[in-house]
Amino acid sequence: MYTMGVDIGSSSSKVVVLKDGKDIVTKAVVQVGTGTSGPERVMAEAFDGADITREDIEYTVATGYGRFNVDFADTQISEITCHGAGIHFLVPSARSIIDIGGQDAKAIRLSENGNIQQFVMNDKCAAGTGRFLDVMSRVLEIPLSEMGDAHFKAEEWSFVSSTCTVFAESEVISLLSQGVKRENIVAGVHASVASKACSLLYRVGVNEDVVMCGGVAQNEGAVDAIEKELKQKVIVAPDPQLTGALGAALLAYREKSRDIA
Ligand code: ADP
Repeated sequence: MYTMGVDIGSSSSKVVVLKDGKDIVTKAVVQVGTGTSGPERVMAEAFDGADITREDIEYTVATGYGRFNVDFADTQISEITCHGAGIHFLVPSARSIIDIGGQDAKAIRLSENGNIQQFVMNDKCAAGTGRFLDVMSRVLEIPLSEMGDAHFKAEEWSFVSSTCTVFAESEVISLLSQGVKRENIVAGVHASVASKACSLLYRVGVNEDVVMCGGVAQNEGAVDAIEKELKQKVIVAPDPQLTGALGAALLAYREKSRDIA
């Protein structure tokens, strides 16, 4: 049985197709999200060259900020539930999750059997989210995919005091004009994201293992800053941008199996 998870976020569109609720048969990510061509393009990409077609899918769960615009989905499930399911499948020892996406950040506490015990979310402010990093990457003229390397070249971490993205951007411009090494500023920017994101984690409790997911987990500099803030190791989920879509495909399998039973 093939089931599909479609995660339409604010910044990216993701698809995972599972066979029998355990094997990934196709997956895709397109770096634009809800309200764009992303949802259509990610579906085309996922099935282009795959051994199966869309007609083979028996049940689809949509998640993410744009989940209610996925008209071919059988049902919609919140990102919190989907990330919880995806992470529990990938890392059964996970007890705390930090998910940093394009427009929000979430901290989730999981029980031993993967149930969500508590969660908190910041979707009101760009601080501590991917958006903050997107703005800083542009100002610093360092592509997002190179922010990690730049971070590890820092000699010391600059202090970015403003949490507000607009004020922090001015602060970064001012540091640049003072001739501060860009790598030092990158590390300071990551420290700012880490401090804001970890404040969510402190509210749900930091229990090992701590697992990070979401697009920002691809930025090794941000992960390093979070580990320094927490003073402990963080496990980065495999394919961290896809954990919501994976969880959605797993939950689709559960829903369909229940229908059959
Ligand atoms: P959403 O689900 O809200 O659309 P994602 O989980 O896809 O968001 O995360 C998007 C964020 O991931 C972007 O804002 C960006 O900061 C970060 N990101 C995306 N690709 C990369 C990359 N290759 N390297 C570092 N960071 C990335």
